[in-house]
Amino acid sequence: MPQNKAATLPNEPPKFNALNLPVHRASTIVFDTTEKFLSRKSQLFDGFSYGLYGTPTTRALEEQVAQIEGGLRSVLLPSGQAALTHGILALLEEGDHILVADCVYGPLREFCTHTLKRFGISASFFRADANSLSSLPSAMNAKTKMVVLESPGSFTMEIQEITDVCREAHSMGALVMLDNTWGFGNSKMFEHGVDIVATALSKYACGHSDVCMGAVTVSDDALYRKLKTFISGIGSGVSSDDAYLVSRGLSSLEVRLQEHARRGLEFTTWLRHRAEVKEVINAADPDDIRHARFSRYFSGGNGLISLILKTNNLVAISAMLDGFQHFKIGASWGGTASLVGLCDLSIVRTVEPQMPGTYIVRLHIGLEHRELLYADLEAGFIRLSEHS
Ligand SMILES: *Cc1c(COP(=O)(O)O)cnc(C)c1O
Repeated sequence: MPQNKAATLPNEPPKFNALNLPVHRASTIVFDTTEKFLSRKSQLFDGFSYGLYGTPTTRALEEQVAQIEGGLRSVLLPSGQAALTHGILALLEEGDHILVADCVYGPLREFCTHTLKRFGISASFFRADANSLSSLPSAMNAKTKMVVLESPGSFTMEIQEITDVCREAHSMGALVMLDNTWGFGNSKMFEHGVDIVATALSKYACGHSDVCMGAVTVSDDALYRKLKTFISGIGSGVSSDDAYLVSRGLSSLEVRLQEHARRGLEFTTWLRHRAEVKEVINAADPDDIRHARFSRYFSGGNGLISLILKTNNLVAISAMLDGFQHFKIGASWGGTASLVGLCDLSIVRTVEPQMPGTYIVRLHIGLEHRELLYADLEAGFIRLSEHS
């Protein structure tokens, strides 16, 4: 009779010094003694007790992210959206109010207006642009426990007066969380008073469009413990394989960002000369009206450019986008590929209501041959004109 024996692994792994971070896959972590097993919860913040709560791979990535953000500790989450929502749920309670910049990432707006209501947390929105500070006092109340910023804002790239808003929010007893997806690698938001930085690592951090991940970062140990306790308690975590991919992406972050930024500026100038374009938005460009405020908070730009076209005719805009060969239609920018996205601002802005069908086009300038991208845009503008 053949014996059905499970294969066993050697007790001692061979000594092997690979250059790169090892990928530690784990659910089970074993303990030497009963005592250590029974007290394993004490490992939650700094050690290892269960795969979900941290492996050497995920802890190493958390350290890298905290360093890039200029914070003390980070906690990884399965997406940027999860980083935002877990940051809010970990720190707010029933009866609290959250005040959110009008320009935030669309799914976060939905979460705040719909899901938070079920938890007894009310949400309202305030001006995201240069006038954000003046609209703050009337928008806050005694129950406001968190203000959420996003600079530059999704699609429209508003930049809030981050330092002033933080001071005002703190004076009223509210924490400030900032979505730093755009500025990751080019900003140190804790220096401006932000308490929680939530970032989608799916974008430039990963850099290759093949991982969804996010992180919340704080500069205060008590806040870190509160976040980590909530996040482990609700059962959210990331795989070490995904953490490895993001860590690999980070090793080229600086050079990728520099090249995307260089191309971003070059394409911005080219797009400004197009007759079909009403406004080009790239806050990193010295000619952009947001640039002075931008320079106070960011040390560089990236490959994202928003376009307001002279036409809002969806048939014409669709003809432009549908025919692109290299600018693929899709969300989640920050990889090597050029992308184009379209947004109807009337759906995602409420403080300053927009007419239905107010479109904004967002380009992500990737790392393909630039001549191919220019030719693609040129042909797109011809299709736009033909269908207008
Ligand atoms: C993409 C994005 C997110 C969400 O990140 P996911 O990892 O896709 O969930 C959040 N905020 C901003 C500004 C983003 O661009």
